[in-house]
Amino acid sequence: MKYISTRGGIAPISFKEAVMMGLAVDGGLLLPESIEAATEEQIESWRGLSYQELAFAVLSRFIDDIPAADLRELINRSYATFTSPAVTPIVKKGDCHIMELFHGPTLAFKDVALQFLGNVFEYLLKESGGHMNILGATSGDTGSAAIYGVRGKERINIFILHPHKRVSPIQELQMTSVTDANVFNLAIKGTFDDGQAIVKAIFNDIPFKDKHQLGAVNSINWARIVAQVVYYIYGALKVTAEEGVDQVDFSVPTGNFGDIFAGFVARRILPGRIRNLVLATNENNLLTRFVLNGDYSVGSVVSTVSPSMDIQVASNFERYLYYLNGEDAARTRKEMEQFAQSGSLHFDDAAQERVRHDFASRSVNEEETIAIIRDFYAAYGYVLDPHTAVGVRAGLAARQSGVPMICLSTAHPAKFGEAVHRAIGQDPEMPVSLAALADQQTRCEVVAAEVEAIKAFVDAHAL
Ligand SMILES: *Cc1c(COP(=O)(O)O)cnc(C)c1O
Repeated sequence: MKYISTRGGIAPISFKEAVMMGLAVDGGLLLPESIEAATEEQIESWRGLSYQELAFAVLSRFIDDIPAADLRELINRSYATFTSPAVTPIVKKGDCHIMELFHGPTLAFKDVALQFLGNVFEYLLKESGGHMNILGATSGDTGSAAIYGVRGKERINIFILHPHKRVSPIQELQMTSVTDANVFNLAIKGTFDDGQAIVKAIFNDIPFKDKHQLGAVNSINWARIVAQVVYYIYGALKVTAEEGVDQVDFSVPTGNFGDIFAGFVARRILPGRIRNLVLATNENNLLTRFVLNGDYSVGSVVSTVSPSMDIQVASNFERYLYYLNGEDAARTRKEMEQFAQSGSLHFDDAAQERVRHDFASRSVNEEETIAIIRDFYAAYGYVLDPHTAVGVRAGLAARQSGVPMICLSTAHPAKFGEAVHRAIGQDPEMPVSLAALADQQTRCEVVAAEVEAIKAFVDAHAL
């Protein structure tokens, strides 16, 4: 399988090259040259496989340059850190099948992809004899998942910037309690936006980037998407069998379009099994406006109780745009350049019809989010985290009888205890791993929110 850019500016590359490249060098995003539908025979042979076995079957459709035994080993090691034997177990609550994606080390769904990506990075660097310094900024969740993805790994150092005293105490502890020698937490005296701007400026300094082999772990890496495709297929096979039906729907709380794009890929692999993909947004509803009205125009970010979805520019949107454009890279490049200039894109009626064929969508406000957490707890004694609640609310609204709705649960409620407390009047149960954080040693450097200060730190501590 070869990989190409959504902007058409690179010769086809291998999976390994695609992982190491991250963002395509022409500014586009990398995609496989083709996404083949599985045959009925293949689909039948996937039923009853363990999560890890299914992951191997799915990933080997996209990865042909890592020997099978090594790929199996990478997969097994990535999901051995999950506390549920099913990896992503599904529980039925009323009209929803809730797929719990939060049993990894940081209790959020980003672990599913980042545990795998960390292992793949280490494997490829060992093979090439290279090394890598990962640099990123976080508003809370992604940072800890990235740190846990590479902690203790050879040939990789990671530097994560978070805004000093502006992340929740749990989020801060999840990052700073990781004291492996290759992990550097930098609390910057500024905001998340400052952190992002600093990281962007450093990545734009090409000599500095090359000198330190700087790498990123944001959701544009294809390896992250492909790891997420697995749980859609796992869920669709399991729930269709359990319910004796042909098709399921998925509801997906969405920010960067990464997770829902993985669902789009999964539907192409499993024709006829996945009907609706419900793109659920919070009050940052850019993507809902796009699906419902063909209007993709950036507004300003508002803070909500589901902060990991407080995003205006969806970094994976371009991947879908490429397919919406009939795989026309020249057109995709032109539109993305236009978007960079004007901050908006508008789609004609024909395109809008195709989008609405691909996705349903709903924006869920704060009141609805809190209400659904409360209602769910009252009805089933089950506590939703606020991101999951957005997906559940949108999923229930889009549900049709006879088609099971699988709602992706993207975080453990204890990570967002304040919102949960508001909804149900008590704190969610604290998992042992989170409760234990309070007693652990921490390591963190408080630094000025300045490009030069961060560069000096990286210079002094890079591999
Ligand atoms: C990142 C995140 C999301 C959004 O996922 P995208 O791939 O960015 O759409 C939803 N919920 C939680 C808890 C997250 O951390």
